[in-house]
Amino acid sequence: MTALAVAEAVAAGERSARSVLEEHLDRIAGREPEIHAFNWVMAAEARAAAAEIDAAVARGEAPGPLAGVPVAVKDNLCTRDAPTTCSSRILEGWRPPYDATAVQRLRAAGAVIVGKTNLDEFAMGSSTEGSAFGPTRNPHDPSRVPGGSSGGSAAAVAAGFAPLALGSDTGGSVRQPAALCGVVGLKPTYGSVSRYGLVAFASSLDQIGPIAASVADAAALFRVISGPDPLDSTCFDPAALAAGNPTAEGQNGEDRPGVPEGVEGLRIGVLAELCGGLAGNGPGVEGVAADVAARTDEAVTALEAAGAAVEAVSVPSVRLGLSAYYLIAPAEASSNLARYDGVRYGLRVEGATAAEMNVNTRTAGFGAEVKRRIMLGTYVLSAGYYDAFYAKALRARALIRRELDEAYERFDLLVCPTAPTTAFELGAKTADLLSMYLNDVCTIPSNLAGHPAISVPFGAGDDGLPVGVQVMGPAGAEHPAGRSPLWRAAAALERAAAP
Ligand code: GLN
Repeated sequence: MTALAVAEAVAAGERSARSVLEEHLDRIAGREPEIHAFNWVMAAEARAAAAEIDAAVARGEAPGPLAGVPVAVKDNLCTRDAPTTCSSRILEGWRPPYDATAVQRLRAAGAVIVGKTNLDEFAMGSSTEGSAFGPTRNPHDPSRVPGGSSGGSAAAVAAGFAPLALGSDTGGSVRQPAALCGVVGLKPTYGSVSRYGLVAFASSLDQIGPIAASVADAAALFRVISGPDPLDSTCFDPAALAAGNPTAEGQNGEDRPGVPEGVEGLRIGVLAELCGGLAGNGPGVEGVAADVAARTDEAVTALEAAGAAVEAVSVPSVRLGLSAYYLIAPAEASSNLARYDGVRYGLRVEGATAAEMNVNTRTAGFGAEVKRRIMLGTYVLSAGYYDAFYAKALRARALIRRELDEAYERFDLLVCPTAPTTAFELGAKTADLLSMYLNDVCTIPSNLAGHPAISVPFGAGDDGLPVGVQVMGPAGAEHPAGRSPLWRAAAALERAAAP
């Protein structure tokens, strides 16, 4: 049952939120020991929330657009009724005193939070193997990774533990696991969704995004969590955006469930550098597998058949994205993670002096990848290297944003793969950092530019595992829901991929 069907049935009194929840808890009991999607299953809290929804329906009250829909929440989002660990030992024992804005909006919409999902520690990784609590496995093949860092959230949706999940995406962490688990994942425009209560990794890149089994469900979740928030000053009002945006006229449909359809007349660019290159223009980025490239080609053909005008486009600077990201994100992380000092949060390992306690705590509390990023980030921000590394990366970021914005003067959307390969075996990339980092080569440009992008499942690779195709758009392309080119293209791909 889709999230929208659940909400409709619960609001109409045809199904109780409690029975919907029990069905999902049964599924969790059956397969969670094998999958390990969750750090924390909130059965008691969820039952209480479901009972409240059922009581509201019985009183004749409108229970909200996600009435009784179970939702899995990534464990780097603050929840006041459960621990928030970021899958790190350093937050051991910490309970946030407040809900993230996105979580609070979920509750207000009648959703039932079923648990906190596993992630790579502090969202740094692409396979969920970096969790201090052990890896999550891919429900399509448990010998494979689910992707990451929101691997627990994507696996939870793919395994039917919840129809919806929240993830966070700094360099691809919603879209890449969605692709590897065969579900839909959106990285919204930077500022579309409040980051209040999202534990900061790289603040200029972090966005919370929906993960769902269908495009319409993802859109429904996006509508609930997006919108301005006084607690996050980078959050914008989409109405202001629509005022200056000619494609935004006719916003009817904004409050209607479902997504707009039809791609007739949309101008779609096939992003050459991320699709194997363009003749006479140098090679594409490394590592995009032949089966993934083939599914992407078929997706493009399907969009063309549905009426879109398709053409190859070159955006040379996207080749710089991976390098720029792996300087900027660690730089911001080194500053953000300074707050885990053994005093304010979670774990403390004593020492003879405060400084020693601080070192002991951080040594014991952080895993290898987090330490690596903190060291790298501190290095590139240090006086002697700031200009050579950090400032240069910022210039590359500006160039990528400018070239993408130029492309969007000619195209409504760009298409490319989401991840270069299908889900890989556990352990296959843990010894080779660069091959792990390369997972995000196609997703990073949208984060650096602050633009939205969505991953939609499109067929399978040679190994039978899901492939995701990515649709990228300019800032605001996922607003308003009634006209959005991004949702229209995503819906067309979903329809074309249907068996
Ligand atoms: N895999 C990327 C990284 O390791 C992106 C992570 C993310 O988006 N949170 O930084």
